[in-house]
Amino acid sequence: MDIIVQKFGGTSVATHENRERVVTRILNEYKKGNKVVVIVSAIGRKGDPYATDSFLNLVNRKKLSTREIDLLVSCGEIISAVVLANHISDKGYRTIVYTGFQAGIETDDKYGNADIISVNPQNILNSLKEDKIVIVAGFQGITKDGNITTLGRGGSDTTAVALGEALKCKYVEIYTDVDGIMTADPRVVPDARLIEKICYQEVYQLAEDGAKVIHPKAVEIAERGNIEIKIKNTLKECDGTIITTKEATNFYSKDSKWNDRIISALTYKKNRAQVIIEINGNKYNTNLLLKEITERNISIDLINFFVDKKIFTIDEEDVNLLEDILKNSNCNFKIIRNCCKISAIGHRMRGIPGVMSRIVAALAESNIEILQTADSHTTIWCLIREKDMEKALRALHREFCLDDK
Ligand code: ADP
Ligand code: MG
Repeated sequence: MDIIVQKFGGTSVATHENRERVVTRILNEYKKGNKVVVIVSAIGRKGDPYATDSFLNLVNRKKLSTREIDLLVSCGEIISAVVLANHISDKGYRTIVYTGFQAGIETDDKYGNADIISVNPQNILNSLKEDKIVIVAGFQGITKDGNITTLGRGGSDTTAVALGEALKCKYVEIYTDVDGIMTADPRVVPDARLIEKICYQEVYQLAEDGAKVIHPKAVEIAERGNIEIKIKNTLKECDGTIITTKEATNFYSKDSKWNDRIISALTYKKNRAQVIIEINGNKYNTNLLLKEITERNISIDLINFFVDKKIFTIDEEDVNLLEDILKNSNCNFKIIRNCCKISAIGHRMRGIPGVMSRIVAALAESNIEILQTADSHTTIWCLIREKDMEKALRALHREFCLDDK
């Protein structure tokens, strides 16, 4: 008998009607004779009473330890799991609800963004043997010392894949409010198209660069354990996206309409700020700057260091912290706020010349100024102004024929 792991996001469990659809998805698998383990996120999105943000709004975060904040927000998934289990038991099926701790998820103590260290699935396996449908509260775990932790926004995806790996499941299904992984965020690019199959590396880069549809740590674990993930729409019957190895996505090859698609998908990360530091003679010590940046936990990106200039980007949230550091130095600096990092991702661009020039031309044609660029074998990044974000994504989507049927 196969174990299937299904994860349902916040909007999937937001209303009575949606939860009934969730139950249908669960029972479909169960009735096929599979063992089903379900992971849920907190109910709803920002503004909904039991959503993560609503719990955070109850307290003054500056006066609460990160340990207590994690304890507070972990309640959302527990509530959601019990409510969903109630829908299922209502229909005469046996269920059991586990918190992350009871599901055997041990993490480190990085409150708010903990990493899973180990999973002991024994409780779940025992319950599956008793033919119960197991519902697990996502997004949380416990430290060696018995403190509750959370796994960062989107962390229920990570719970699902980590449990899938520990349970040696057949596959993990992640249900959400879109049809699967699309060529771009469908909220920004209306012509975005569904990607039927995509490899771990590309999805990892997409997730890392801002596409919320799956958490990067979940993709990392899936690749490590070679676990197939399916992303599907809770509210609509459709095949969705399969995330698998590069080899298995080889339907791109030969005569395929995908052959010309150098770029697989686009994504964006808002709230970036560009920092340009002009070095004044030899008086400025770059090592010291980097040390202070690290000490204050500021993460830097798109790093271009020249003899007389150091350019990089940071999160808008860290601008004040960085300004404090730079004001104590004796060099001129400029910070451009309200920037957005656009990423064009595709493992087939490796070794193909001219991709950057097509990007530059497409953006120039739309009168979009590029503030900075960087590239790797599989990704090209452009920093632009946030106001240009939609225009840029749509222009690149067209340029790389991503909207072609
Ligand atoms: P859930 O609550 O189900 O985890 P999320 O909000 O975390 O849902 O993720 C789903 C959202 O991801 C979609 O509503 C969509 O706007 C966004 N998204 C961003 N990029 C993409 C993409 N390339 N494909 C699909 N969805 C994307
Ligand atoms: Mg999510």
